[in-house]
Amino acid sequence: MQAGNTDLLRSACLIGGDWLPAQGDKVFAVHNPASGQLLAQLPDCGAAETRQAIAAAALAWPAWRQRTAHERGALLKRWHALILAATDDLAALITAECGKPLAEARAEVAYGASFVEWFAEEGKRAYGETIPSPQPARRLLTLRQPVGVCAVITPWNFPLAMITRKLAPALAASCVVVAKPAEQTPLTALALAVLAERAGIPAGVINVVTGSAASAVAIGQTLCDDPRVRKLSFTGSTEVGRRLMAQCAPSIKKLSLELGGNAPFIVFDDADLDAAVEGALLAKFRNAGQTCVCANRLYVQQGIHDRFVARLAERVQAFKLGDGAAPDTAIGPLIDAAALSKVEALVADAVAAGARVLSGGQRRAEGGNFYLPTVLTGMTRAMRIAREEIFGPVAPVFRFADEAEALTQANDSEYGLAAYVYTRDLNRALRVAEALETGMVGINTGIISNEVAPFGGIKQSGIGREGSRHGLDEYLEIKYLCIDAG
Ligand code: ADP
Repeated sequence: MQAGNTDLLRSACLIGGDWLPAQGDKVFAVHNPASGQLLAQLPDCGAAETRQAIAAAALAWPAWRQRTAHERGALLKRWHALILAATDDLAALITAECGKPLAEARAEVAYGASFVEWFAEEGKRAYGETIPSPQPARRLLTLRQPVGVCAVITPWNFPLAMITRKLAPALAASCVVVAKPAEQTPLTALALAVLAERAGIPAGVINVVTGSAASAVAIGQTLCDDPRVRKLSFTGSTEVGRRLMAQCAPSIKKLSLELGGNAPFIVFDDADLDAAVEGALLAKFRNAGQTCVCANRLYVQQGIHDRFVARLAERVQAFKLGDGAAPDTAIGPLIDAAALSKVEALVADAVAAGARVLSGGQRRAEGGNFYLPTVLTGMTRAMRIAREEIFGPVAPVFRFADEAEALTQANDSEYGLAAYVYTRDLNRALRVAEALETGMVGINTGIISNEVAPFGGIKQSGIGREGSRHGLDEYLEIKYLCIDAG
């Protein structure tokens, strides 16, 4: 690994300010998905360690709550500065454990850090309100108070940003957290915790419980069952989100869920062809297609279809596939062999039903978890890709005739996270954006995420919003005070 600053590397979990190494053979391994190299052995925590972490968080909460928003903001700003100062090391770590190209990893550090800065400020604006009273003698007001101990479970595709997008608003709202990073990418989360400690964030405010895929079930169950945990924020698959939601039902926990997506990317005949192709490349191939807002279905109107696919295929063929740490790599590996098999099966299903491969269409001949960047045409609604999230570098193009058909097909999904529309017609852009059943719409752009805007989905893509002023609300409760001042 190229992480020069090795003191950010930890092979321990963090509970109540103590870095606890693995006990005996309770360890799991973290590998580089590009090379298969062993990166670290970490504690394989279970229910007992999770309960310990919840207790540590609960213990830390009263003092953390007592701090002023200004003091918490100052600590978060220090954390933000340390994250940015460690960009090279954090980016190397992200690339080593999740495989994305170094340039993307560096962009993730900046993106992830931006949430810390944003919420350092936003925490100072957790305003309540005064409400005009219906009775003369009464005074009505609201306070916004922290939820308390929050459980945070994150995926591997943004090892840094998914942690900061949850921890920063939680801490700014004066909550405390138990975080369970993905088993594939816990090292970045631990490095962030080292920097938080260095920034002066008190022991127990951030706890990190590491565990294997098998242990995730016990850790998750413990977090959901424990009545001291008042909220769960989860980013990951819809399937696991559904399960966690059910597990949280008995204790009625507050929930934020960022789940799967199946983003439509609609290109109308009047679109700027160059801009649409550029946007599609960004929306589709970032992180080798492994983001929940990646374009999953490209709907291209018949008048521009052939020119669009020819241009797209030409650009896609030029992508350099390889280890994310190598210079010029545009597309890294998929996260593991299971992800590779899934992409392969989805493409095989489409090809068997008549799809045409314009580029790629197979795994890399030299082996490893690599799939060639692919463009498919002749896609139909009957194919699995029309309904399932690909999570790989495959751009499937569906041809459509008119706006009504594009909208019907785009909305024909259980998911509703992001959508993209390319057209020069302002009225159509607004009409289509309003009719799309998604939480976010990119209009003439393939990149929409930033810290100031509300990120989140509708339908089975989730509940709640992250980033923006709304992101803080997820960690606050409203308390209403009714005062008889007569
Ligand atoms: P992905 O398909 O992106 O790997 P998952 O939903 O499987 O998404 O995983 C996202 C996060 O959820 C990871 O941290 C993983 O360990 C965790 N996870 C998986 N299954 C469970 C479960 N049953 N309970 C709690 N966490 C889980």
